[in-house]
Amino acid sequence: MMVEQIQKFIEEKRDEGKIINSIIRDDVFSILEKECTVLYYYLDDAIEGFHISKPVRGEQKQFVFINTQKVLQEQVWTAGHELGHVWKVDQYVKNNCANCSEDIETIIGKFTAELLMPKENFRAEIQTKLTEYQYKGTVMSQEMMIELVTYLMNFFAVPEKAIIRRFSELGYIKREHIEVYLDSFRAGTDYYKKIITEKQYTRLDKTREVYSMGNIHEDILQLEKKELVKSKYVKHVREMFHIDDNPKLQEQLQFEG
Ligand SMILES: [Zn+2]
Repeated sequence: MMVEQIQKFIEEKRDEGKIINSIIRDDVFSILEKECTVLYYYLDDAIEGFHISKPVRGEQKQFVFINTQKVLQEQVWTAGHELGHVWKVDQYVKNNCANCSEDIETIIGKFTAELLMPKENFRAEIQTKLTEYQYKGTVMSQEMMIELVTYLMNFFAVPEKAIIRRFSELGYIKREHIEVYLDSFRAGTDYYKKIITEKQYTRLDKTREVYSMGNIHEDILQLEKKELVKSKYVKHVREMFHIDDNPKLQEQLQFEG
């Protein structure tokens, strides 16, 4: 089974010490940064991020781009997804599961869900909230649904789509109701915003400020030299990190002291 293989894969990464916290949230960025070069850029573009693998000085290097125009919970999701590509989870699943016919993106999508919303934790958080709401029935009001989804989004730092799809994966809602839930949630945007303020759900809807990286200057030079990305991106990244084209200040100046 695909899901069992993915869970086993994540367990192995935990055993290797590559994943430490049980709820990862924005720690996913530092996990990813240890595995490859991550570039954060702000683009007015629908693209959330992508992954490329290119030879640099004869060595295969991996690069991930994340669009920081998106809110934090979406960037977390993108980072988790790209980590799945960097770790080649799809190959692991295919090697260990003879009759898995799922395509790469489906496998990576499941991996992202298992990584960021572990089943046991997800169930436990839902149970806590349902007890708090004194939920008895099988029918939930739109308000309660929005409260629950928003709580879980903040707890796991993931987008609403991810929470609602997880409801379906774990049997809380029917698969064919995913769209109904999404529409219902999005129709209540004002209420969602109100909850964020009232409950101080500080992880949600944040846009991240400039991010820095130790070797960013070198990385950008490499990207530019090897023409790995469009010059438009290189320019964006430079602006974002306030790096100019010629930053070396090595002059020796005399000063009588
Ligand atoms: Zn992908």
